[in-house]
Amino acid sequence: MAAGPFSFYGWDEIVTPSLWRALDWGYTQNKRYAVKLYGKLGLNPILLNGLLDDFACTCGRHDCDKSRGKHPRFKNWETAPLDLDALDRALASNHHYNIGIRTGLQPNGKGLVVVDCDGPLELLEPLEREAGEPFPPTLTAQTGSGTGFHLYYWLKDGLEIRNRQGIAPHVDIRGYGGQVVAAPSLHLSGKKYTWINVREPAVLP
Ligand SMILES: [Zn+2]
Repeated sequence: MAAGPFSFYGWDEIVTPSLWRALDWGYTQNKRYAVKLYGKLGLNPILLNGLLDDFACTCGRHDCDKSRGKHPRFKNWETAPLDLDALDRALASNHHYNIGIRTGLQPNGKGLVVVDCDGPLELLEPLEREAGEPFPPTLTAQTGSGTGFHLYYWLKDGLEIRNRQGIAPHVDIRGYGGQVVAAPSLHLSGKKYTWINVREPAVLP
């Protein structure tokens, strides 16, 4: 087998629980490395339109506004099988593209949901009171706005959750049929999405 770009780092020899720690190693500051790492972790990275140097969207539409720099690059993103080499070639051709992770069923066979908290984590408190327990610590990203959080959870076997808007004020769920922007994507604020709690996702209770 030909040596891939990551054999230098020995990633092929690292067992999975440790590999989640690699999200912290700075490699996710590089979009091409990040995509490969997400793929290796069993996730489904996708390409999003990104922001050019003047913060115009790479889609080229003058009326691209609400989702500028964060909508999928390819029409078939919901169903296209993961092709890491194609993603890498696209990023090599245009480093402005952003990176998303398609939520729902992942290549590793698990279901992934992301709790999208558009503000401080205290926004989750009404849900926690309702459930009678806190959200377990899990893989977490700070969004590019700098004020929001993405909490990544595996779903229990056999459970499918689709996108759900407003499960609490300013809190959405991204599940089957959805996607989230992921590190190191650039946000309109000029800041990047970053990982702040690096570990394998917990299972949503
Ligand atoms: Zn656009």
